[in-house]
Amino acid sequence: MSSIIRLLPDHVANQIAAGEVVQRPASVVKELVENAVDAGATSIQLLVKDAGKTLIQVMDNGKGMNETDARLCFERHATSKIALAEDLFRLKTKGFRGEALASIAAIAHVELKTKQADAELGTHLIIEGSKVVSQEVAVVPQGTSFSVKNLFFNIPARRNFLKSDTVEMRHVVDEFERVALAHPDIHFTLINNGSEMFNLPATNLRQRIVGVFGSKTNEKLVPVQETTEIVEVVGFVAKPEFAKKSRGEQFFFVNDRFIKSGYLHHAISAAFEGLLKEGTHPSYFLYLQVPENSIDINIHPTKTEIKFDDEQALYAILRATVKHSLGQFNVAPVLDFQR
Ligand code: ADP
Ligand code: MG
Repeated sequence: MSSIIRLLPDHVANQIAAGEVVQRPASVVKELVENAVDAGATSIQLLVKDAGKTLIQVMDNGKGMNETDARLCFERHATSKIALAEDLFRLKTKGFRGEALASIAAIAHVELKTKQADAELGTHLIIEGSKVVSQEVAVVPQGTSFSVKNLFFNIPARRNFLKSDTVEMRHVVDEFERVALAHPDIHFTLINNGSEMFNLPATNLRQRIVGVFGSKTNEKLVPVQETTEIVEVVGFVAKPEFAKKSRGEQFFFVNDRFIKSGYLHHAISAAFEGLLKEGTHPSYFLYLQVPENSIDINIHPTKTEIKFDDEQALYAILRATVKHSLGQFNVAPVLDFQR
């Protein structure tokens, strides 16, 4: 009997991988913006049309790519960010899987313009459905610009599955806000259908939160800070009276990466115990720095869930720290009264 197993061609493998990495326009936004951050950009501009269904463009002033890398970046498992398995436990970058651009190029029309600082000329490359259509030497600005058009053009089922522009744009803005909050020192702008939605100059953490959520946010914020052997926590919680009925603004960042954790969320809720009206949820912006080797980020392609070595200790520290900060805040009105 002849054997029946074969290796899938790259473009098929890429399309399969894309199913995991790219669920919707917002997934593309996340991957491109994170790449710009990893490239050391100090300014990142995101432009979307029709909630990203027709165009997602990310422009950065980061380190750019040379001619060879401009082609290689679309190969699967091609990355400049890790070389060894051990590197997974000393990650300083957002990316490491080398999958995002290969996946995106498999299911969209992608245009790349990139130039390194010390180069006179850059590269202009067009790739559609994993096939390079053209690659030319070109006069382009320093940094990198990726334009992603016609997402899911070759997967009609996926395209039809997309929600309304309003819903998809909400997801795009969520991703944008997460990365903007993670990196207050980077200038971010978001232009939606030709009009500016966000323009966030480089600043400190408090001002970035205010920039994203509006000037009324400032008075709501209670600072949180703690350093222990296993974690350094900084950030803010919103005063209990501003707790919301909707789940609202709840952000954990671990080593500058937005993550979701029901378990750690519970720690914050526990710190607010007795202070909240029934059915309301606390808002928080908490930034944890932990040793890179105490977490595993490689448990899901989108990397929003991570595994901690000692989750229970983190829980206890977060709960105590937030409780303490809220306690200090509660003292404030009494002092005001005495004045
Ligand atoms: P990963 O980020 O996991 O390495 P990607 O597919 O997202 O995988 O990107 C592949 C490679 O392309 C990166 O490792 C990086 O070297 C290069 N690259 C991607 N985006 C940019 C950018 N905006 N500026 C410079 N280099 C980039
Ligand atoms: Mg990446």
